Amino acid sequence: MSLDGTYDDGNIFAKILRGEAPAARVFEDDHVFAFMDVFPQARGHTLVIPKHSQARNLLDEEPAVLTQVILGVQRVARAVRAALKPDGLVVTQFNGATAGQTVYHLHFHIIPRWEGVELGRHAAGGMADPTELKALAAEIAAQIA
Ligand code: 5GP
Repeated sequence: MSLDGTYDDGNIFAKILRGEAPAARVFEDDHVFAFMDVFPQARGHTLVIPKHSQARNLLDEEPAVLTQVILGVQRVARAVRAALKPDGLVVTQFNGATAGQTVYHLHFHIIPRWEGVELGRHAAGGMADPTELKALAAEIAAQIA
């Protein structure tokens, strides 16, 4: 999948937004939905996506929507920090398959990092236990300000 293309509303994040696929929800408002990554690169790996958007990537997104999304990313990242007390936080976003993108609905990754703990591989790790993800989502949700 290149940088160009049309939005496919059969993508997994669109299904999550429509309630057709499960997700460990952390937070949502009128603009964004945040949930746990099911193949986490680190404990607490969280995704933030626009709710009303057909942007496949950053380049496609309307500036007004993007503003709301990045504000959501900051809000959720602060909650991840408060809940899990990482030493650092990586925020990533991939555009096009060559860049590492695997799901074509705009999203930002929030990945906590701890000293001495290696980062897992992007979209290549094992699936997390849904019960654990739900518990982590609740811990982070409790810290949303
Ligand atoms: P990308 O590779 O497009 O930047 O990120 C897509 C992310 O979505 C990956 O980190 C991958 O682990 C995650 N992912 C893929 N399928 C699912 C799913 O069904 N549920 C959730 N919660 N995350 C998913």
